Amino acid sequence: MSRMHFVVIGGGPGGIAAATHAARFGVSVTLIERDVIGGAAHLWDCIPSKAMIATGGAIAFLARSEGMGLNTVEAAIDTNNLSERLASITSHLESNISDLLSSQNVRVIQGTGTLISPKTVRVTTADGVEEDIHADTILLSTGSRPRVPDWCSPDGDRILTTRQAYPPPEIPEHLTVIGSGVTGVEFVHMFTSLGSKVSLIVSRQHVLPDKDPEVAYELEQNFIDRGVKLLKGARSTAIERTSEGVVVKCDDGRIVESSHALLAIGSVPNSDSLGLESAGIESEWGYVPINDFGQSNVHHIYVAGDLSGKLPLSSVSTMQGRKIVEHMMGVQQHDAHRHISYNHAASAIFTEPEIADVGLSQIEAFAEGRKVRVTKVPFSSAAKALINDDTRGFVKLISDPATGVILGGSIVGRHAAELISIIALCVTNRLTVADLRETLFVHPTLSETLADAAE
Ligand SMILES: Cc1cc2nc3c(=O)[nH]c(=O)nc-3n(C[C@H](O)[C@H](O)[C@H](O)COP(=O)(O)OP(=O)(O)OC[C@H]3O[C@@H](n4cnc5c(N)ncnc54)[C@H](O)[C@@H]3O)c2cc1C
Repeated sequence: MSRMHFVVIGGGPGGIAAATHAARFGVSVTLIERDVIGGAAHLWDCIPSKAMIATGGAIAFLARSEGMGLNTVEAAIDTNNLSERLASITSHLESNISDLLSSQNVRVIQGTGTLISPKTVRVTTADGVEEDIHADTILLSTGSRPRVPDWCSPDGDRILTTRQAYPPPEIPEHLTVIGSGVTGVEFVHMFTSLGSKVSLIVSRQHVLPDKDPEVAYELEQNFIDRGVKLLKGARSTAIERTSEGVVVKCDDGRIVESSHALLAIGSVPNSDSLGLESAGIESEWGYVPINDFGQSNVHHIYVAGDLSGKLPLSSVSTMQGRKIVEHMMGVQQHDAHRHISYNHAASAIFTEPEIADVGLSQIEAFAEGRKVRVTKVPFSSAAKALINDDTRGFVKLISDPATGVILGGSIVGRHAAELISIIALCVTNRLTVADLRETLFVHPTLSETLADAAE
C-alpha cells in the first residue's frame, strides 16, 4: 500500500510542527516554502523583534547598574553589529529546523505553492520551474503580512512596516508609531530602549484596548515616565514625507512631525494567490474558517496559523499543526486535549515591564457577570525582586470562589512571559489555588509570588 502523501504549503511554525509530527507517523511529507524555513515568525516577527528588545533590555540593565552596586556603565548601539546579531539568530534557527526536516526525510521545496485542484498543488520556483504534486491531504499555513492602508506608502527608509525595522539603517531620532495594540507597544518599547524619542498614536482612550485596564495603565505610566508622547483618541489619515522626515496627520486635526513613522495596525492573510477557488475552499476576508479539527470546508485540506483567523500567535500555530496531524492520523485524544482551547492560550507583551496573561481576565468575568475571586500580590513583596533591584509589577490570580479552580491570571513585571506558564499549566489542567499553594517553589524566586497569590 502506498504511503499517505501530505503536502504542507508554508514553512512557519504551523507548517513545521505539522510536517515533523506527520513524518513521525511515517507519512510522506512535502513542505513548500517560498522564503525562509521558520516562516515570518523567525524572519520578521517573533524572533527579530524579541532580539531587538533584548538588546534594548541590555542597555537598560547597564543604565541601572548603580542599583546593583556597580559604577554606571553606558553602552552605545552599533547598528551593523545589531543587524549581524539578528541575521545570525535567524540563520541558526533556520539551519536547526532544516536539519530536523531532513533527518525526518521531509522533502522541502523552495518555491511558491498554489492549489490548482482539490488534490493538486503547483510549485513554482524562483526560476519559474513548475512541478505539479498530488496530495492526499494538504495543510495551508501561509501566514499573514503587515496591513498597509491606502493612505500611506511605506518606503523602507522613513515610513516603515514592522518588517522594515530590523534594524533600520539608523536608529530613528524621533519615531511615530501608528497603532497601540500588542505589536505597536512592543515597538514603542523597543525604540525608546534604543534611544529614540517616540510618539504613539492611540486610536482609543488607552493602549492595549483588549487587555485588563490596570495592566494597560501600568504600561502607559512607564511610557510616560520614559518620555513617550501619547496621542489618544486619534486615528492617522495620512503619512507624508518631507525633506527632513515625515508628517503624520490625524483625523482630529493633530499633526506629528518626526524623523520616521512605523505602521503597526494589524495584518492581512497570505491567501490572495493561493488558488483557494480552484480547490473550492471558502474564505472570509481572505482568512479560511476552520472547524474544531482544523479542517476547511474541503475536509482533506486543513489550515493552521494566522491564515485560520484564530489567535495570531506562533504558539497557537504550532499547536494547531500538531493537532491537525493527530486528527488526520485518527489519534484518539483524551477529551480535555482533543481540541485547542484558544481561550487557554498564554500570551505576552515584551515591553518593560513585561505583561502576560492567560485564561479569564477580571474584566471578562465582570462583563459576563461571573463571580470570581481576584487576588493580587505586588512583586515588591518578593525578596527576589529586591535582589534584582526591580520591584515593579504584580501577579493577579482569578479563581472560582466555590471550587478554587484557577481560571486565569495576569502578570506585569520582570520575566512575566516565563512566569505566566505556571498559571497556564493550572488553567489548562483545572488545578486549584490549593494545588498552587502546596507546590514547593525555589526560594528566592519571583515565582513564589504566584504561591502568595494563591493564599
Ligand atoms: C512584529 C510581530 C511580532 C510577533 N511576535 C510574536 C511573539 O513574540 N510570539 C508569538 O507567539 N507570536 C508573535 N507574533 C505572531 C506570529 O508571528 C504569527 O502568529 C506566526 O508567525 C504565524 O505562524 P504561521 O504558521 O501562520 O506562519 P508564518 O510564520 O506567518 O509563516 C508563513 C510562511 O508561509 C510562506 N508562504 C506564504 N505563502 C506561500 C506560498 N504560496 N507558497 C509557499 N510558501 C508560502 C511564507 O513565506 C512564510 O514563511 C508576532 C507578529 C508580529 C507581526
